[in-house]
Amino acid sequence: MFFNRHLLSVTLLLGSGLLLSACGPTADEASATVISGKTMGTFYRVSVVGLDKSREPELRRQIEAQLAEDDHQLSTYKDDSVLSRFNQYNGTVPQPISSGMADAIVTSLRIGQKTAGAMDITVGPLVNLWGFGPNKEPVKMPTQAQIDSAKAEVGLQHLKVIQQSDGQYLQKDLPGLYVDLSTVGEGYATDHLARLVEGNGISDYLVSVGGAVVSRGKNPAGKPWQVAIQKPTDKENAVQAIVDLQGMGISTSGSYRNYYELDGKRLSHIIDPATGRPITHKLVSATVIAPTALEADGWDTGLMVLGTDKALALAQKEHLAVYLITKEGDGFKTNMTQQFKAYLRKGEKP
Ligand code: FAD
Repeated sequence: MFFNRHLLSVTLLLGSGLLLSACGPTADEASATVISGKTMGTFYRVSVVGLDKSREPELRRQIEAQLAEDDHQLSTYKDDSVLSRFNQYNGTVPQPISSGMADAIVTSLRIGQKTAGAMDITVGPLVNLWGFGPNKEPVKMPTQAQIDSAKAEVGLQHLKVIQQSDGQYLQKDLPGLYVDLSTVGEGYATDHLARLVEGNGISDYLVSVGGAVVSRGKNPAGKPWQVAIQKPTDKENAVQAIVDLQGMGISTSGSYRNYYELDGKRLSHIIDPATGRPITHKLVSATVIAPTALEADGWDTGLMVLGTDKALALAQKEHLAVYLITKEGDGFKTNMTQQFKAYLRKGEKP
């Protein structure tokens, strides 16, 4: 078995498919204040324009406190996070959760329904079985019996958010249900960073956590911030398309960076809840632009599970701004919805 640790580290450095978080400052960031670091098994980057140097340490402190709080809420990698404690709880009595977590779960359940269960935040037992969560990757291919047993613990219908006058509660009707918010966590944290920066009176910024990005206003050159979608290859950082976000959130999910090989098969971290196995089709990357990074981050995984044709049909039906890259022969073909074209940088070929 070969686990692609080196390539995974490149993924984490760059985010999954968006080139913005590359090691050095991008041209857009040349004279912005850039605050960056590690969080949630990946990297964050906050670029702001017009910040007085003396305010930078305080902004960094606030950013790191916010990210630590998001991690404390949503991590399945920390045993004492709010989500892990819910997962460890072996009962069906509603458990109190924060309004932020309730919002992330309600959005995830909605996208889950729209994708007919392709995006399913209860997929945790299968993610862990295939070694893409906090568990180590398996040394042997999981058996059908193991897959069936994990699948029996999965299903959106088993999870519910209850809004009451005294707050929000999360309830499962299967005691063993395990919620995995990794698919939306980066978008969730990115939206929080955007709000935090705006709360500091900054209106020109670009923030990212892993493969989720939000930008507003102008870069230091007085032009719209631009984000590059990466070519789907694990060998280079080549640009496939450049978009101008115009104040929206963007997220990319890809099967080409986060994987390992077992018995000669390349296993992607995107799991199809219907089969209980990593996806095998030829859609290699889905990018979504939406009003929030949380929303974009939820859709991109669901579309990845659906595969090119169903993803495109659903994106068109839901009027989503979506860009898909599919392996075809030795190369790749791209598809995008009409809504996505509006964000392509002028001069980019649709
Ligand atoms: P996305 O495509 O956005 O999501 C893929 C992930 O979603 C999979 O890895 C899996 O977990 C889950 N998933 C797979 N299939 C489905 C499906 N059908 N429906 C729904 N979800 C699915 N990683 C570490 O190594 N160490 C850490 O300490 C760590 N801490 C984290 C803390 C938090 C709060 C979060 C949110 C993530 C953390 N991670 C950690 C995970 C890591 O950064 C993930 O790789 C990342 O969140 C997945 O994002 P992505 O953009 O690569 O993939």
